[in-house]
Amino acid sequence: MAKIRSKDTKPEWLVRRYLFSRGYRYRKNVKGLPGTPDIVLRKYGIVIFIHGCFWHGHEVDGHIPHSNSDYWRRKIEHNQQRDEKNKEALKKMGWKIMTIWECQLKPAIREQTLYEMEYWINHSFLEHYRQKSPNTYEIIENPPCIVADNMVEYGKKKE
Ligand SMILES: [Zn+2]
Repeated sequence: MAKIRSKDTKPEWLVRRYLFSRGYRYRKNVKGLPGTPDIVLRKYGIVIFIHGCFWHGHEVDGHIPHSNSDYWRRKIEHNQQRDEKNKEALKKMGWKIMTIWECQLKPAIREQTLYEMEYWINHSFLEHYRQKSPNTYEIIENPPCIVADNMVEYGKKKE
């Protein structure tokens, strides 16, 4: 039970709750796939990782502690390499991959992050039929507010 609860960390819960409220159905912590993705939207061919900035070495804010810095650097670099390997493997299997960093779920930018995630999910679902979508996507730090405009264009292209 404790093991299950530790998998349901708050950032992951935020993303799942949003997806659920928007009508998406997913599987979580899918052990059969490389890296045990936090969220799998099978119908969309999408996996989502929610990464803690420290453990996964987010370049923006994943600071290495001053004490034992060699140890931490090695450990975090190891995690980064493992993440990279898992994502490569998933890509080869045909999955589209999104990485959401913990800091992108801070209250000030959370709504925008989730909104952009949903946009990307729908967009790549559509792109899937055009066979030219990039396989990986990361929400950039403070993404530009162009989502609303894109939504209009997206609606037009649908026909
Ligand atoms: Zn971060």
